[in-house]
Amino acid sequence: MPSFARILIDRSEGQELDYAIPLELKESVALGDRVVVLLRKRRAVGTILELMDHSEVPGIRPIEGLVGGDTTVTPAMMSLARWMADYYCAPFASVMRCMLPPMLRGEKIAGKKIRMARLLKTPDELELGVLGKKAPKQRAILEALLSAKSSLAVPELLRLAGSSDASLRPLVIAGMVGIEEIRAGIEGGTLEEVLPGRIPHLNPDQEKVVGILLEAIASFGNASNGKLPFLLYGVTGSGKTEVYLRALQRVLESGKSAIVLVPEISLTPQTVERFRSRFDHAEGGEGGGAGVAVLHSHLTNAERREEWMRLQRGEARIAIGARSAVFAPLSNLGIIIVDEEHENTYKQEETPRYHARDVAVMRGRLEGCPVLLGSATPSVESYRNVVAGKYRLLELPRRADGQLMPLIRVVDLRLQGKRAKSDGGLSAPLQMAINKRLELGQQTILFLNRRGFATSMLCEQCGHVCRCPNCSLSMTFHRAEERLACHLCGHSSRPPERCPECRDPGIRHSGIGTQRVEEGIRKAFPSARIARMDADTMTRRGSYEEVLGKFRAGKIDILIGTQMIAKGLDFPNVTLVGIINADIGLHSPDFRAGERTFQLLTQVAGRAGRGETEGEVIVQTFSPASPSIQHARHHDFAGFYEQEISFREAFRHPPFSRMLLIRIRSVSLERAERGVTMVTGIFRKMAPASVEVSEAAPAPLERSHGQYRFHVILKSSSGAVLGKLAREAASQLRLPEDVVMTFDVDPYSMM
Ligand code: ADP
Ligand code: ZN
Repeated sequence: MPSFARILIDRSEGQELDYAIPLELKESVALGDRVVVLLRKRRAVGTILELMDHSEVPGIRPIEGLVGGDTTVTPAMMSLARWMADYYCAPFASVMRCMLPPMLRGEKIAGKKIRMARLLKTPDELELGVLGKKAPKQRAILEALLSAKSSLAVPELLRLAGSSDASLRPLVIAGMVGIEEIRAGIEGGTLEEVLPGRIPHLNPDQEKVVGILLEAIASFGNASNGKLPFLLYGVTGSGKTEVYLRALQRVLESGKSAIVLVPEISLTPQTVERFRSRFDHAEGGEGGGAGVAVLHSHLTNAERREEWMRLQRGEARIAIGARSAVFAPLSNLGIIIVDEEHENTYKQEETPRYHARDVAVMRGRLEGCPVLLGSATPSVESYRNVVAGKYRLLELPRRADGQLMPLIRVVDLRLQGKRAKSDGGLSAPLQMAINKRLELGQQTILFLNRRGFATSMLCEQCGHVCRCPNCSLSMTFHRAEERLACHLCGHSSRPPERCPECRDPGIRHSGIGTQRVEEGIRKAFPSARIARMDADTMTRRGSYEEVLGKFRAGKIDILIGTQMIAKGLDFPNVTLVGIINADIGLHSPDFRAGERTFQLLTQVAGRAGRGETEGEVIVQTFSPASPSIQHARHHDFAGFYEQEISFREAFRHPPFSRMLLIRIRSVSLERAERGVTMVTGIFRKMAPASVEVSEAAPAPLERSHGQYRFHVILKSSSGAVLGKLAREAASQLRLPEDVVMTFDVDPYSMM
């Protein structure tokens, strides 16, 4: 029987504190329960994240009472949490937080309208003292508002203060507390275009795939184990979504529930509507799309919580959302679908650093339900799992609308004059192609891969790139120290004065200023209507939909963007897609650089020519012969995979090894260096022979947020060996104060 609990306090920016469990509660407390505790002499509400037998906190205080459990963590989810904490070397409490509904910080939804209370006048000690004697419940209300420092929803306020409306009313009459009503609700999102509700006849490829899936859905409940996940490899526009919809339909008919994961960036009203419009009526719900709950980061906490609760109460049986929707509180799952399974945004870049696709596969196994991963460009890991017999392959090799794949033209930047290089990087063929679209009244998307933080050494005469002899990764040029460094193995060398290939001295000063691209385009096409879309310009809620809406309505001729615009969007009038500089992705210091470039080009190409007219894609590069570009050009996933997998095998990169990235950071360079030396020292000492420990290296992004950053990379054939090693080493390590060490299992970002 556990004696202690770790509690996440609601309104304290994620603070976790330990409390003792009083005897009378020992039988009843469970993970996820809501409790009242004392925090600096005030009562506060929190959630139990972890139950423990021991606590090292001296003078620990007891839990005051139970507010009631409005969350339930099922046994399957508990197992999932334990697996995640173990596999990702993450604190158990950090994992539990993912499984609980979003916390409210002074906001709460209760029906359509909510009453918010706020202090109109700050009471002084004297007033509080008098009230405390006369009307302690009124005093409690004032105190709750004082400590909240903002307005509170009335039900939340009354719960916190342990009071009722009867005690609130005198305070309102006395002018101490103001009440206002605000509208709450989940915005439907404005849709410029209502998608046809017509259900298409499946084509023969889809028939076959759906048949296999329906059979799996029907038979899965019986045997809970030994069923393999599916990988649906379907070219862009092959009708994967229709396959998902059919599978979901069957799941709903059999009374079960489902999770659909999509990358955050493609979670547009358009995508959501495709699911809602199909299942609205199936549930017989009201207009807002009963049956489907949406979870994404643009919602406020209150909205996300409301969606979460609808799922938990069974009012919605389909959860669609980004990464965190994998934890949707659904029981009786009939399928988990992960669309665009290759997407990096499924990897969470903060603790716990989980990969939602892999968690989905594990959840499916624990819950005993089929898992369907879909992509036009499957990840090397997933396809390798097919080859190894761990996943089952389903294929949609043709576009559903019978269109041909668009033509991809490669422009060799080495052959373009100096002007193109300085002129915002627009080559003559790309300029001509844009011009033609403007004349025809058609639209263009220009894809601008954000400039990497690190710079590779690239020769603009011959395209040569300096690579690590051990890892074959592009080396990073640290100008200040005059070093070339490999961030995977730590190998470093002096940068060459001239290109080793063609002897050109220009290799030291390369790199197109991508910042200038937009300027260059505006100058080249002064009368065109141009919009840019990237993380910087899209911070405001709704601005993303706004720009897309304008683009769809034909009010924008040229859309410039980053990754954001490469996914899942369907624009019939776009007939040209230009990639300004394919090399930035290709030469990033990352063993997945080639894979990412292939995926990007293929996905981007899928955006062109979705309508009546045929599309064209123009790729600018200094490395036209690179396999990623050539295979993408020929729409040849198999060829790309064969070449990539042999590269991974030759250099023992994942999936031929498991990787653990250890990051060390500190505001002090000296302490960070001391820390990283200690870390490499202890891992070298403790690691079994089967584990490779790299040299300590500065992270490609050496300084960020005023911190000095280093990393060490461990490789092993066994993930379990790595995890065990990490935990044991961490428990022995005494790092200098303010040196922070984090573990990243199966890392995706090497920065
Ligand atoms: P994917 O998700 O594979 O990129 P989509 O599901 O978006 O492809 O389908 C691409 C287009 O083809 C959509 O406009 C969709 O409505 C249409 N489509 C899908 N299946 C069929 C079908 N069986 N018959 C006709 N059109 C279809
Ligand atoms: Zn190396």
